[in-house]
Amino acid sequence: MHTISKILNAPPEETLDPDSWDDVHDLSHQIIDDAIGYLRDVRDRPVWQDMPSGTKTFFTTPLPQSPVPLADVYQQVTNTVMLYPMGNIHPRFWAWYMGSSNFTGALGDFLAAIQGSNLGGGNHAAALMDNQVIDWCKEMMGFPVSASGTLVSGGSMANIIGLTVARNVMAGVDVRELGVAAMERPLRFYGSDQVHSCHRKAMESLGLGNQALRRIATNGELRIDLAALRRAILEDRAAGYRPACIIGTAGTVNTGAIDDLDALATIAEEEGLWFHVDGCIGALIAISPHNAHRVAGIERADSLALDPHKWLHAPFEAGCALVRDAGLHRGAFAVTPEYLETAPRGLASAAWLHEYGLQTSRGFKALKIWMALKEHGIEKFGRLIDQNIEQGHYLSALIKAEPLLELVAPTTINIVCYRYRRAGLDDGRLKILNIEIMLRLQESGVAALSDTTVHGAHCLRVAINNHRTRRQDLDLLVRETIRIGELIG
Ligand SMILES: *Cc1c(COP(=O)(O)O)cnc(C)c1O
Repeated sequence: MHTISKILNAPPEETLDPDSWDDVHDLSHQIIDDAIGYLRDVRDRPVWQDMPSGTKTFFTTPLPQSPVPLADVYQQVTNTVMLYPMGNIHPRFWAWYMGSSNFTGALGDFLAAIQGSNLGGGNHAAALMDNQVIDWCKEMMGFPVSASGTLVSGGSMANIIGLTVARNVMAGVDVRELGVAAMERPLRFYGSDQVHSCHRKAMESLGLGNQALRRIATNGELRIDLAALRRAILEDRAAGYRPACIIGTAGTVNTGAIDDLDALATIAEEEGLWFHVDGCIGALIAISPHNAHRVAGIERADSLALDPHKWLHAPFEAGCALVRDAGLHRGAFAVTPEYLETAPRGLASAAWLHEYGLQTSRGFKALKIWMALKEHGIEKFGRLIDQNIEQGHYLSALIKAEPLLELVAPTTINIVCYRYRRAGLDDGRLKILNIEIMLRLQESGVAALSDTTVHGAHCLRVAINNHRTRRQDLDLLVRETIRIGELIG
């Protein structure tokens, strides 16, 4: 037992707050000024550059024991992290598939951290804003008001949320209580051979196994072959499996192909299957004035994954899962222990947001999305999506017009697959040459692309999910690809 006098003799109590708020004022303003300059001048810097060895070893320094002034800490960040970014905020970053962030979203992330709420739920304003952003996502996707949703780290988690609900609903047993071993028939899920790798992770972590996901062949446009899908479902039923879920992809990661979502919804309906759409790339095309028709049928999904950190350019991370039937969604995740019961009034007098996913504590991701949507309005985001798709077709036209380059897959939206070609080189040599071009483009800081293989053909892949890209950047890419290709000789 501590006596009062012992407590009074104890060392002074501490906090993480600064000794004087005046001390952090100037530095904080400096950080904001630097941040503005950093984004304003991003075009003048290389897209990417490799780190010198000094920077690499900097990150092996030991666990700090004693204090360092914040100004020095910031200086260390400036000299390392800020100098060597991945590059996805740059106008000529087109590798993989990312968003290019935005300043308002960054302010949102800052304010979310300052305000500090835990979005596990509760009766407070951030929770209402989280709900409102979900409502806005439902509206953008044409989902009913009665649908539910949750903001998660990204598309991979959003897909896992949707597929978990699908598994539980289709299992035929109480899979939450009894586990997958109790299922009478193994479940089968269906996606195209272009399906994103996160679905494999989902199958594995759901205990169904990778083989439970049947990859259905795609046609020349890289869209799922509907007849092959119907055959596979019949075959599986006859073989004693339980066909459970069709995964439609709205924008494949390889080429941007969009499955015929309407037809998939109809097949799912006829066969009594769950219909999940992976819309991480393309769901948001639904808000674009000129291209929305490409994702017709998305509103018929039972569950849908979309990715605000892609085409809404929210700073990482922000993904969103929507589920048409809120009861089924909550039924897949809700577990309310006695210490998380709701109260009639006060802080706990609201539905818990953690009942719609795997996390308990949740960050305040809604604010960065909410602020950017408010500032620009949804019409502008729709136009920016059209702009990227138009740029994809512009680049595609440049490539078609250029004898030294060839398209390797049809361009549907904002992903362009092409390669440098040279007479007399077989596919293996062409691949080596094109990889070298890609690496030199990256290392020179001119552009960041990635590569892939489409129906057996290796290619360079340009994914223009970038509100800073201009057509002149694509002109430069074509010139540089050819220049480097000729240089390699
Ligand atoms: C990006 C992407 C994912 C994964 O999303 P993350 O946000 O990276 O987790 C899933 N599916 C498709 C089609 C994607 O493009």
